Amino acid sequence: TAYVFTFGGGVTHQDPRAKDKTIVGGKGANLAEMAGIGLPVPPGFTITTEECVRYLAEGGDFSADVRAEVAAALTHIETAVGKKFGDAADPLLVSVRSGARVSMPGMMDTVLNLGLNDETVKGLAASSGDDRFAWDSYRRFIQMYSDVVLGVDHHLFEDALEIAKEDNGFYADVEMGAEHWQALVAEYKSIVQTALGEPFPQDVFHQLWGAIRAVFDSWDSDRAKVYRRLNDIPGDWGTAVNVQAMVFGNMGDTSATGVAFTRDPATGEKAYYGEWLVNAQGEDVVAGIRTPQYLTRYSRERAGAKPLSMEEAMPEAYAELAAVFELLEKHYRDMQDIEFTVERGKLWMLQTRSGKRTAKAALKMAVDMVAEGLIDERMAIKRIDPMALDQLLHPTLDPDAPRDLLTKGLPASPGAASGAIVLDADTAEKRAERGEAVILVRVETSPEDIHGMHAAKGILTARGGMTSHAAVVARGMGRPCVSGAAAVSIDMASRTLKIGNRELKEGDVITLDGAAGDVMAGSVPTIEPELVGDFGTLMEWADKHRRMKVRTNAETPADCRTARQFGAEGIGLCRTEHMFFDDQRIAAVRQMILAEDGAGRRAALAKLLPEQRADFHAIFDEMAGLPVTIRLLDPPLHEFLPHADAEFEELSDVIGIGVATLKRRAEELHEMNPMLGHRGCRLGITFPEIYEMQARAIFEAACDVAVASGAAPVPEVMIPLVATRKELEILKALVDRTAAEVFAEKGNSVAYHVGTMIELPRAALMAGEIAEVGEFFSFGTNDLTQTTLGVSRDDAAKFLTPYVEQGIYPRDPFVSLDIEGVGQLVELAAERGRKTRLDIKLGICGEHGGDPASIAFCEKVGLDYVSASPFRVPIARLAAAQAAL
Ligand code: ADP
Ligand code: MG
Ligand code: MG
Repeated sequence: TAYVFTFGGGVTHQDPRAKDKTIVGGKGANLAEMAGIGLPVPPGFTITTEECVRYLAEGGDFSADVRAEVAAALTHIETAVGKKFGDAADPLLVSVRSGARVSMPGMMDTVLNLGLNDETVKGLAASSGDDRFAWDSYRRFIQMYSDVVLGVDHHLFEDALEIAKEDNGFYADVEMGAEHWQALVAEYKSIVQTALGEPFPQDVFHQLWGAIRAVFDSWDSDRAKVYRRLNDIPGDWGTAVNVQAMVFGNMGDTSATGVAFTRDPATGEKAYYGEWLVNAQGEDVVAGIRTPQYLTRYSRERAGAKPLSMEEAMPEAYAELAAVFELLEKHYRDMQDIEFTVERGKLWMLQTRSGKRTAKAALKMAVDMVAEGLIDERMAIKRIDPMALDQLLHPTLDPDAPRDLLTKGLPASPGAASGAIVLDADTAEKRAERGEAVILVRVETSPEDIHGMHAAKGILTARGGMTSHAAVVARGMGRPCVSGAAAVSIDMASRTLKIGNRELKEGDVITLDGAAGDVMAGSVPTIEPELVGDFGTLMEWADKHRRMKVRTNAETPADCRTARQFGAEGIGLCRTEHMFFDDQRIAAVRQMILAEDGAGRRAALAKLLPEQRADFHAIFDEMAGLPVTIRLLDPPLHEFLPHADAEFEELSDVIGIGVATLKRRAEELHEMNPMLGHRGCRLGITFPEIYEMQARAIFEAACDVAVASGAAPVPEVMIPLVATRKELEILKALVDRTAAEVFAEKGNSVAYHVGTMIELPRAALMAGEIAEVGEFFSFGTNDLTQTTLGVSRDDAAKFLTPYVEQGIYPRDPFVSLDIEGVGQLVELAAERGRKTRLDIKLGICGEHGGDPASIAFCEKVGLDYVSASPFRVPIARLAAAQAAL
């Protein structure tokens, strides 16, 4: 099979691999696709991801076959362009670009203008008739190649450029003429000579292979690894290399380069959106070296900016570009993110891909595109990343609250965030780890800042446009971002900053409004999100297409209310222990635990009964007849005990037992390994009066609510940590007996169910037997993961991250279900349970109930519902629909 695929220059491929993202990467596939539909794409070729994987694994040289295919593909470019690589009179120049299966913006390396040396630069000057352009291109090439391939620090070149401009009394790069660039090239070459002890490579083939290796190597760079980990991208995909004929946006004032979106990536508005620069090359726009201009007249006028838009300055090239936008959107049926260059008036397409967008924009575009007939509902559902909805479910700034506005920048990524100013990524990470909310403030961000951006609540940059690194990455991460706030100036030495005439220092609190571009002093109050409009429409579609129900994990009326607003269809897990920690009750709880015998415990429980009944009453009221699964007491009792001496003394006063006795009892309750100790149904077996009280509270409240409201609650009483049929039998009898007593006393009854959690491997294996007693199973996958993996969730932090980094588990098994392992137990228990009890109800209530990948698995196994924390309910609704499609 081929190692190399050509594109452009009139080639047409039979081989489907030539357009397969997994083989030629996203960039390569889309370049081939665009060339195929007749768009102007500079010709080039792609070396496959498979060759990258081989190269990284085996190292060493490229095979004769690979070299021969590259040589042939280079000839293809030469023929198409009519220039020869390394030709001293009229040289072909190429770019060498990375391109993985999914886009990893700015994470990997690209080299432009490759093929220049001391001879070919003269040829380029002669053939283009533009000396300045030729030397500008050469200095760019030396800097990029030295940075990316030779590992020379790019600051050395940037400083040299600054000094050259200063010496000449220039302010901007555009003031530099041919002779200035030529002098800088000499300077750059000596920087390389000094740094490496050898000259800058002059052999163009040496340059080419060096760049190819560097692109492959960049797949394993630290920053690429961090990005992959944050985005769940497998390490074994590799990147492709694209080698492509250069086109030049820096050939004077009829040339330009730009980046565009076919719709607004921040709001989703159906309007072209983009930025461009005259007489510039590729990276100038994204790197924030010059502040770019607006693409369309509409957005220029809306922003009140002066420099002409492309629509006004280059109407012909712009019209051609707009036609390409239309064509690409129709072709891909999605919003496209496009790179283009205009060389002396002629438009060239350099990249297209489905554009990254904010959650809000994603929803608007999906709903709009259904209305436009571009996609159908099912496609719209599939296109939204469920996790991205999280951005929309959180508060935004209260529009009526007073704001102490410091400055305005570009609205690069929406959302509101308040936090302490931090000036570098490492500090951001450190302070965030301590639980502090921080805002990362930088002149501009680069891929090295990615961990700090992730740790920060928001990002503010002094330079860079809407398509700058900071903006793109922030949108992808769902972090609010204000970019290009020119009034911000940072002094790293004193770790202070000025915003306009206001002085601030690291640690001062500011607030960002990423949708407006506002930067405010202090923190600003927030308001609850709107769950209507596009969000509501998409959720309606999701509900129509999903099979599984979505419940919530909740134990307070407030959580119940939030969850119902988010569309919860019941409670999948109501943990009763949280109710015991209440200040008013804890004394009675402790008295109960520390009692010497059953009678002492009963006396204490009698105090708790009315409190528990009131809890359930309030929850049943909120849930208005929807099913409510209540788990009886689960944690080891010592969790409720006092620790400090003062607490013991206080308790002694309240319950009238001496401190020494209390301490002895507490000592007795101590366990070596409480996770596997005296907890769950083991408490119910040994202290039946606890479960009796809880069952009584449930049924009394249910009867009361049934009478009062007419919407009869359907309690599902859930016994935790069951391993055997016998345990469940004993405790079900206890619950049934209590229910019968309450119903007799009340002269009234409600329907109810008794079931169990499946959270021990033995329970999963014995599910057939257990289902003879239990009417429902709820998979408690947090404990099931702990007990199956033999990994304590509370102690795992130390080793799980390295485990995930080394690929031992693909993701943290407490975040995303270990489908391979723990999944087998779930599947088997579901099967065995159904065999004995045809209509057994099956659900999941672990943390995994809110994780899209785990939800897809639940659909596959045929569970009846998933249960997620209130803010995850919409995510689960969408994920359940995606799983069903
Ligand atoms: P990234 O993945 O970081 O966007 P790219 O490979 O797309 O890197 O290239 C970086 C910049 O160089 C982009 O602006 C791109 O348009 C520009 N560029 C890449 N190849 C060429 C080329 N053959 N001619 C002109 N500009 C190019
Ligand atoms: Mg790149
Ligand atoms: Mg690009």
